[in-house]
Amino acid sequence: MRTDLEEYRARVRAFIAEHGVPMQGEGVRVPADADEERAIREWLRALYEAGFLGAGWPVQWGGRADHLPQHDLVLMEELIRGDVYRPLDQVMLASHAIIEFGSDEQKAQLLPRIRAGEHVWCQLFSEPDVGSDLASLRTRAEPDAAGDGDGFTVTGQKIWSTDAQWADMGMLLARTDPSVNRHAGITAFVIPMDLPGIEIRPIREMTGYAEFCEVFLDGVRLGPEHVLGEVNGGWKVVTSGLASERAFVGANSLQLERMFDDLVALARAARLPDGTAALEHEDTQATLAEALARVEEVKLIVRDTVERILVDDEHPSDGPVAKLAYTETNVALTEIAMGIITSSVAIDEAGAAVADRWYHNFLWGRALTISGGASEIMRGLIGRQLLGLPRA
Ligand SMILES: Cc1cc2nc3c(=O)[nH]c(=O)nc-3n(C[C@H](O)[C@H](O)[C@H](O)COP(=O)(O)OP(=O)(O)OC[C@H]3O[C@@H](n4cnc5c(N)ncnc54)[C@H](O)[C@@H]3O)c2cc1C
Repeated sequence: MRTDLEEYRARVRAFIAEHGVPMQGEGVRVPADADEERAIREWLRALYEAGFLGAGWPVQWGGRADHLPQHDLVLMEELIRGDVYRPLDQVMLASHAIIEFGSDEQKAQLLPRIRAGEHVWCQLFSEPDVGSDLASLRTRAEPDAAGDGDGFTVTGQKIWSTDAQWADMGMLLARTDPSVNRHAGITAFVIPMDLPGIEIRPIREMTGYAEFCEVFLDGVRLGPEHVLGEVNGGWKVVTSGLASERAFVGANSLQLERMFDDLVALARAARLPDGTAALEHEDTQATLAEALARVEEVKLIVRDTVERILVDDEHPSDGPVAKLAYTETNVALTEIAMGIITSSVAIDEAGAAVADRWYHNFLWGRALTISGGASEIMRGLIGRQLLGLPRA
């Protein structure tokens, strides 16, 4: 098995070296121009076509009978190691939602376009004042009186929609029945992002990039073919623990190892007022030792999680524990890096690129403690699911 995996890794690595599109920075996904967009879509298509991505899908839709979850982990590790553009999580989540809840027509129409790199997806869930408490969403999808009775007219506002400015399709959550309990009246829709009535405004972030958007929906007409799953069954679509590429989480260990190496490189390049490198000083060494201990802790947590994923024996709290441990440690490392930079008077030329990465990661890192469920929400889940604490 190990030899097979090593052989698989070698193939992935060679493929990345030949076809990979360089990544601009952590969390930077929106193409800078039309040429980069073409290259990214072509790269995603190549990953699907080579059977490295989407290999866990049903064979009928392009998956591979010999796919192992370990392959997903190897792929993500090699993408990180190669510093190349990574698969878009919104696209992967949409794929699995369509596979699980889509009609045969939706599968036939949408899945091949994902594999061809033709369709980038965004997620239209969060609204102003509606994030953690998603079930309180207010965007309305009202039965369309002007149509034949089974269409909808959607009005509302979404926010923080990653990739919406270049997405072809969106997975939308809207309230279809305000008279029932708030979880029961929500429907999931799959919608083309160029429908009349949709306006998209990118939001500039503190990193300087604009990765997510506000999306305004003003009288957008949808037909029954846009409903994903059942009308009023949208909550099931978002909470069904969609069988995404779960083993990807294992690659967080490699990510933190690389960040730790960057921390040491930064301390070596940072000059203190007396001309010595920060790394030569005992207090910096002690801080780095503590950081390394934290990284090793996260690696153990992630390793346990991945071991359970691989034998399909996950505990409900595994995801929250791994996410919390990784994202909070990530932020802690960026803060240590800023401490080194701000206590130094100069950075050696050799460390300039590393320092630039840290500036970006410092501004970007906190976003990961919010997206996909904020740290406080993760702590609440861990309290209830792992420790058996009562709901506050
Ligand atoms: C990088 C990034 C990408 C994103 N991409 C998308 C996307 O593509 N599509 C999309 O729909 N959304 C996206 N989001 C939005 C994201 O899902 C929300 O930001 C997140 O769910 C938190 O919601 P909120 O921002 O409304 O904060 P709130 O829910 O208002 O939370 C504010 C603060 O209160 C805390 N809090 C809230 N409820 C509780 C509670 N019950 N107990 C304890 N503390 C609590 C939170 O932890 C947080 O610290 C993205 C966010 C980020 C940062």
